[in-house]
Amino acid sequence: MKNKTPIYLCVIIIMVLGYKITMMDDWASNQNLLFYNGPIITMEAETPSVEAVYVENGIIHSAGNYNDILQSIHPDTKIINLDGKALLPGFVDSHTHPVISTFTHGMVDLSGFTHQTSKELWAHFEKSVSEHEPGEWILCGGFDQVLVPGLEPPHISYLDSIAPQNPVLIASQSLHSYWTNSLGFNASGVDRETPNPSNSSYYERDESGDLTGYIAEQKAFDPLKEAIIQALGKSTLKEKSVAVMDGYAKNGYSTITSMGVTTSDKNVIRLYRHLSTGKPTFADQLLTAFRILPKRKPTVRNFVFIRYDSSHLLPASVDNGDDFFKILGIKFWYDGSPYTGSMYMESPYLNTDLTRNKLHIPNNHSGVSLLTQEELESFITKYQDHGWQIAIHSQGDIAIREILESFDKIINDKGIADYRHRLEHCLLLQEESMKLMAGLNIHPSFHINHLYYYGKALKENIIGKERARQLLPIKDADQNSLIYSIHADQPMFPGEPLSLLQTAVNRRTEGGDLIGSNNAISVMMGLKALTINAAWQIKMEKKIGSIKKGKYADFVVLDQSPLTVPISEIRNIKVIQTIINGKTAYIRHPSSQIR
Ligand SMILES: [Zn+2]
Repeated sequence: MKNKTPIYLCVIIIMVLGYKITMMDDWASNQNLLFYNGPIITMEAETPSVEAVYVENGIIHSAGNYNDILQSIHPDTKIINLDGKALLPGFVDSHTHPVISTFTHGMVDLSGFTHQTSKELWAHFEKSVSEHEPGEWILCGGFDQVLVPGLEPPHISYLDSIAPQNPVLIASQSLHSYWTNSLGFNASGVDRETPNPSNSSYYERDESGDLTGYIAEQKAFDPLKEAIIQALGKSTLKEKSVAVMDGYAKNGYSTITSMGVTTSDKNVIRLYRHLSTGKPTFADQLLTAFRILPKRKPTVRNFVFIRYDSSHLLPASVDNGDDFFKILGIKFWYDGSPYTGSMYMESPYLNTDLTRNKLHIPNNHSGVSLLTQEELESFITKYQDHGWQIAIHSQGDIAIREILESFDKIINDKGIADYRHRLEHCLLLQEESMKLMAGLNIHPSFHINHLYYYGKALKENIIGKERARQLLPIKDADQNSLIYSIHADQPMFPGEPLSLLQTAVNRRTEGGDLIGSNNAISVMMGLKALTINAAWQIKMEKKIGSIKKGKYADFVVLDQSPLTVPISEIRNIKVIQTIINGKTAYIRHPSSQIR
């Protein structure tokens, strides 16, 4: 008779792994929950507020009168006294970048959000250098000549003198410009002989051809990015990606829209799918057991748009994924940023010290489109025909108009349908464009905190008073029946939904200037932009975005109701807890009553 020990051993190993994998299904076995005794803002027009919400197995079972609901709850229900805190549907981030946020996570902060003067900023940089081990990359982010008055870009000789033993990277806040030192160039294989990738993406050189340390735009930056990713190692990046996803829940988001994932690597998509999906594959669970993929825990839902130049990452069909992770469509860029002169406008940028000497915008320049209309039309046709949603980065008035002309041609040929194509940022969206958008069923997501952080610079030094007055016209969009959302474009600005809400409502800059007060919206309209409208833009409005029977139990608990605090206090409201599918993804105080 043969020895059966190896067979028994295999069976035991499979059983242990199977058990481990079953235990990892973190969306299963939800506890039933009853919330009461706090303002409960449902975002449902017919019942805007209710006394109680009852959740069974991750789904909202009922929302209404407390005593009525109490009669029907399961005996093992956890009863949660909100004690005056506000319960709302979880916020939906309509435009964010988790992959770039992973790259910038934990960087030395040189931003104008933290530093008021050039002196203070460089002192912070020099102190940070001294805290690194020799040879370690010193990664700094947020460098911003608009927000920090008098800030001059660093020369390679300065960076070499401060950090003679470390490669250094300084990234601008807009992530369009970078600076490095000699060791940074060495580590990336770039030297004075390296050709520039293009006229707009290059390594700046002085009269004698030596590198100055300045790197313009992505293509020239790619060798540095690769060197940094290699140096950090994959496990650090995986840990950071988990921390970034935790950060969204901490800010009150229960769902995010990844708007153009900055990768061409299918393993990056696999990692994010693994973190959010409701149904992890057996193979991915095995990789988790062997610690090749991070351990799963309740985290934000993730709806993804792939970059146009990584279209090989699109799955075979729009019917992919689940209600926790899904690839929805494709993102294009038609213009750029007002802080690099690449926002495409009808009239030129102002000619000021800031535009000319700091932002290097040529005189009488109005920006250019990054694609021809013919290219755009062929892309739209190609992806629309396969059912993909299309999102286009568009800031300037002419950029928006040309995009809409292209859509108009195609949609007039093929007919209006429920495409839910979107325009991203929409700084200068004109009335006639809004009418066209409404007719074409194309909707905007507004980059509202341009107004808060850069409103003053835009008004005084970049586009002038008249155009600034028409900046980010949310109320006009509402009156033109557009379904609008608002976003922070993290890591461009901090992904704080309550900060976005306050700006949309009071239209004030960080310094208190009022800009385009006629486009101020109500708190309720702002909350719609952060919940049900943003859910509609990702085709999830029947499942998330409001507190309604049958929807997922995705909630945020706030220490105060945005509907009752003074408007100037909205951004100081604290997120106490974020619940996704009935499970806690973030809690401010682990010992809190609300659990
Ligand atoms: Zn973006």
